Amino acid sequence: MSFADLGLSDELLRAVSDAGYDTPTPIQKGAITPVLMGKDLIGIAQTGTGKTASFVLPMIDVLAEGRSRARMPRSLILEPTRELAAQVAENFEKYGKYHNLSMTLLIGGVQMGDQVKALEKGVDVLIATPGRLLDLFERGKILLTACDLLVIDEADRMLDMGFIPDIESICQKLPKNRQTMLFSATMPPPIKKLADRFLNDPKMIEVARPATANKNIDQQIVQVAPRAKQKMLEEILSGKEVETAIVFCNKKVTVRDLTSKLRRDGFRVGQIQGDMEQKDRIAELDRFKAGEINILVASDVAARGLDIKGVSHVVNYDVPWQPDDYVHRIGRTGRAGASGIAITLATRADADAVDAIEKLTKHKIGGKAKAEPETKAEPEKKAETPKAESPRVENSDEDKPKRRRRGGRGRKKSDEVTPGVEAAEAAYEDDRPDTAAAKALPAKPLAPEVAEGEWSGPVPSFLSVGAR
Ligand code: AMP
Repeated sequence: MSFADLGLSDELLRAVSDAGYDTPTPIQKGAITPVLMGKDLIGIAQTGTGKTASFVLPMIDVLAEGRSRARMPRSLILEPTRELAAQVAENFEKYGKYHNLSMTLLIGGVQMGDQVKALEKGVDVLIATPGRLLDLFERGKILLTACDLLVIDEADRMLDMGFIPDIESICQKLPKNRQTMLFSATMPPPIKKLADRFLNDPKMIEVARPATANKNIDQQIVQVAPRAKQKMLEEILSGKEVETAIVFCNKKVTVRDLTSKLRRDGFRVGQIQGDMEQKDRIAELDRFKAGEINILVASDVAARGLDIKGVSHVVNYDVPWQPDDYVHRIGRTGRAGASGIAITLATRADADAVDAIEKLTKHKIGGKAKAEPETKAEPEKKAETPKAESPRVENSDEDKPKRRRRGGRGRKKSDEVTPGVEAAEAAYEDDRPDTAAAKALPAKPLAPEVAEGEWSGPVPSFLSVGAR
């Protein structure tokens, strides 16, 4: 099946072909025609599956006829984060280049004045995060009564971030006979309830999760002592096959610290985390996309759904606390036919978290490529002998005090949350460590096949490259 079989206009087919795509992905095959026909839709799909184009393409054709009026957007796309909103906007630009549709982005962290001016001119496509949209609605700057098309994207992420009440409130402000599309990687009960309440006889399309379906991702795990993590990361990033890498950390503070250290050590590195201003995050993304930097250190919320093609490596500097995040993280590599490598640095304290991931993905991470790093990575300080890095020491005292501190009483000023959408994002990133740490500890002893000082399989090529 080609794009031409889906019922899209010639202009749109030309834009798709300009983008270099000739075959629709499964979600595109399933979603585009029903959306063109005005049906409601539930898409169980996550980023990396081509889901954005599955709603952007038909929307462009649906909206091609008709005109917008001041302050009355004709369609609305709700996104959980500013980055995702910005990426959907990029998709509209890419595929809508032969159409004359107006588009506005309503996201936190940027001046409201320009957004209000754009709304007053009339917009065909409004892409918004829920907080900023409701804010402008309550100020009387926007009317939703002519909004006949609604997309709720990344619904499960919205749930994680506490946005469901906002979404319900927004749905109630839209015309009842609108067309609604809901996309979610999973369908937990609150999302099912939301769909039952606000969608009308939807067509349901489910596509395989990239982590289980995507054979293009070579998943590896490296057992490492906490204090040797940075050193190991630098060895990995120095590998000559590493063209571009996203390095994921569980905490914003780790993103900040690690970025400084890598920069100090000569890497071309940038960061993206929830405390950064919107314009700074976008600037950093642009630098990465332009090749000015080739390593991006990121936190989960800030990086969710990043649409960056050709990322050769994903490195989990921390094992994610939520197994779902692992799936999302490694989905940044090996996308749309390209192959990629995902490397997870795991300490002994991460054993339960790794188990949870393997249960979810039904895949044993890196059966072949495990390494005991103490023999490869030199200790950072002289005092940190391999003995001092022994399992018992590393488990019990490295992370625990820090995690307790983040619980509230000793919270650092720089980690305090800010109001609005930013607060939801910040809280999400800050809140998880407590519950997750409780689950992740105490650590299990290492499995016998990765006992100290032994390689459990062939030495992965990325470990043998030292010099940059
Ligand atoms: P998404 O799931 O929307 O985040 O898209 C994942 C990536 O796949 C993006 O980089 C898209 O530009 C790309 N993409 C979308 N549709 C196709 C297609 N039909 N063929 C190849 N790549 C695509």
